[in-house]
Amino acid sequence: MRKPIIAGNWKMNNTIKQGESLVSDILGKDLSRDVEVVICVPFTFLDRASKLVTGTQIKLGAQNMHWEEKGAYTGEISPVMLNEIKVEYVIIGHSERRQYFNETDETVNKKIKSALTYNLTPIVCVGESLEERENGKYKELIESQVTKAFEGITKEDAVKTVIAYEPIWAIGTGKTASSEQAEEICALIRSILEKLYDADTSQKIRVLYGGSVKPDNIKELMNMENIDGALVGGASLKANDFVQLVNYKL
Ligand code: 13P
Repeated sequence: MRKPIIAGNWKMNNTIKQGESLVSDILGKDLSRDVEVVICVPFTFLDRASKLVTGTQIKLGAQNMHWEEKGAYTGEISPVMLNEIKVEYVIIGHSERRQYFNETDETVNKKIKSALTYNLTPIVCVGESLEERENGKYKELIESQVTKAFEGITKEDAVKTVIAYEPIWAIGTGKTASSEQAEEICALIRSILEKLYDADTSQKIRVLYGGSVKPDNIKELMNMENIDGALVGGASLKANDFVQLVNYKL
């Protein structure tokens, strides 16, 4: 049984003060125990957030990291630094990082390996642009992204990862992929994992959907066989919406 994950990606939003108030609003409500709840917050808030969520159901994630442990990489944050403040998850290869900050399949692969070395759970993002969807090449693209991301990663490590399918055309646009479209690609991702590893491994890896997930579409998405949760941007910034997503079963 794959435990569902609802992960908030705050992106570049919330000062420390705003973050404190959002976390306290979320913690003030009942959260379903059947769901793993993760918030991926900006670097400046991680340390404070770590203290606020210790002993609660909320787990903490970063939105990016460098693959090296330390060194002359101005502006970067290392996995050791994330370990130090008890961060458990890290988003790797979000489309915004691929698009605006030159992340490639190669750097994504290095970061996943490094995250696993430092016992961080990588949330590996893949997804196609509108153009790729429209020219019909999106399945090949997903296969290539997943295959390159997992190059050189053993199946023992692969099962510790989480994958998020985020079609770029559905991010922040209000245009959700239909649950059938999301399921089609999440199932495809599982079949790629089966090819790379084996059926048992592919059944253990959690595959999330991300892109305009809201309280009114979460149930339908979560009913799909191969969707194990959601990576949520906009709706994770409002306590009520985020808690409704976490409590999608209620
Ligand atoms: P939205 O939920 O705002 O569409 O963002 C999705 C996303 O990019 C999460 O990582």
